[in-house]
Amino acid sequence: MEMAGENITKAADIIKNSRYTVVFTGAGISVESGIPPFRGPGGLWSKYDPALIEINYFYNNPKSSWEMIKKLFYIFLEKAKPNAAHYAIADLEKKGYAQSIITQNIDNLHQAAGSNNVYEYHGTTKKLRCIGCLKEFSREEINLEELPPKCPLCKGVLKPEFVFFGEPIPHEVNRISFDEARKAEVMLIVGTTGEIMPASLIPYTAKDSGCEIIEVNISKSSYTDKITDILLPGRASEILAELADNIK
Ligand code: ZN
Repeated sequence: MEMAGENITKAADIIKNSRYTVVFTGAGISVESGIPPFRGPGGLWSKYDPALIEINYFYNNPKSSWEMIKKLFYIFLEKAKPNAAHYAIADLEKKGYAQSIITQNIDNLHQAAGSNNVYEYHGTTKKLRCIGCLKEFSREEINLEELPPKCPLCKGVLKPEFVFFGEPIPHEVNRISFDEARKAEVMLIVGTTGEIMPASLIPYTAKDSGCEIIEVNISKSSYTDKITDILLPGRASEILAELADNIK
């Protein structure tokens, strides 16, 4: 068994020598920003009912769906701030050591930390789209006092631009994410255990294209024994800060 420190040095060298590194993140990276994971004991879905954001339920009951959406995705999630892991990833991108970030999170924390090339696989809370005229609005343009919020142009109901249960992944972000996985020489997986389909397939696609896989997770994930080359176990904030320190 190698020491974590040696593995960090090894991972840093691999990233330094890579011409195309893609970072793939999930809920685990935002836990230290105060956002519990959605799934599992104590997860957000034990406090909030996920059936309320099932897409057909939303279309039929936009008001009750929006009451939960506002509490969870706007009042609660909007308080979260990026942590050291988000900043370390933004730093790697600025220095040219990470070419893109694919995130399953809808909390906007990568962008808040300064990352630019972010693909939001499950969409974002920062945009809303009218289900009538399909026009898109930014979060700041829309008042959430009265629910459901209505389109300023046609009075249609607005839906947040994140993927609801029962909704497919938007075609464009799905295509780009798998293209990025095929282009990657190194994929840095952070805070995701690989349980959510089809996002969980992205690292497998990378591996099939000859990519090296570096994984940062609290403990082993469904990827570890199958495709991971180097596991860096521990808190994302600490491991990534140390990793970024070693890549200079
Ligand atoms: Zn409209």
